[in-house]
Amino acid sequence: AKQGGKNNITFYAPEMNAVDAARSAVEQHLRGALDRHELTLAYQPLHNAQGLVVGVEALLRWQNAALGNVPPTTFIPVAEDTGLIIPIGQYVLNEACRQLAAWRAHGTAVDRMSVNVSPAQFAREDFVDIVRRALQHHRLDGRDLELELTERLIIRDVPGVSRKMSELRALGVRLSIDDFGAGNSALNYLMTLPVNTLKVDRAFVQALDQTPGAHRIVQAIVALGHALGLDVVAEGVETPAQLLQVRELGCERTQGFLLGQPVPPENIRA
Ligand code: C2E
Ligand code: CA
Ligand code: CA
Ligand code: CA
Repeated sequence: AKQGGKNNITFYAPEMNAVDAARSAVEQHLRGALDRHELTLAYQPLHNAQGLVVGVEALLRWQNAALGNVPPTTFIPVAEDTGLIIPIGQYVLNEACRQLAAWRAHGTAVDRMSVNVSPAQFAREDFVDIVRRALQHHRLDGRDLELELTERLIIRDVPGVSRKMSELRALGVRLSIDDFGAGNSALNYLMTLPVNTLKVDRAFVQALDQTPGAHRIVQAIVALGHALGLDVVAEGVETPAQLLQVRELGCERTQGFLLGQPVPPENIRA
């Protein structure tokens, strides 16, 4: 049987200090990043089964004088832990809406903007109002926007999440479960929450070329999604073989380096 925590020995590896130092440097520089206009958005296209661009996903980029180019996988967790994700997320939502409206004003027909939302953002009482205001401000319809949420969010406060999701759906906003299958898939919540889309985690998509089991897993996720009436997006498509397979398996939309890297807004042609 397992003993209590009392006998546990904690080792402090010397490299822990380096990790902590790097993290606090990120935090320190991230604090002023918005004001210094260091955060920008890149946009990666999503294609339908016919290969047409049907939307783009907004992805944060951070260029800092001292730290250089810091990837979102490094700074988003810091932003989440420090609360900086609230103003940063607000910027992302607003800038993505502004960009979509600007493309349309110039005749670039991007159907829909996908925006990543952290659990801490969604947890805010005023989150739905923030979305509503961003849409109104840029004269967009709710249907122009898809919010990408992770399973981390759903296990938190189910009644609150459910209510906000319904309010967003009433605005026409689409809701997508990002990185599906990567965490502890809360299938029971999926059954009751008003989501529209499942994004198959890219680990499964990339395994399609190598692991025979991956094909069956993606097949099962697509079947699950379709049984629930959801669209299924395959992300992280890097090879023609992967693209062929996810299309054959019935994924409605595809995204990945094969079809398009995240690029600055001036490079988007649709
Ligand atoms: P994500 O939402 O799963 O976004 C997809 C990530 O996969 C992006 O990484 C994208 O560049 C990368 N990717 C796309 N196609 C391929 C491919 O074919 N192969 C490979 N290996 N990678 C591909 P990125 O831009 O570094 O973003 C990483 C994560 O950071 C995102 O994962 C998302 O969780 C988070 N993130 C990015 N922007 C935002 C944001 O505005 N808000 C929040 N809350 N999170 C964000
Ligand atoms: Ca995403
Ligand atoms: Ca994803
Ligand atoms: Ca991811």
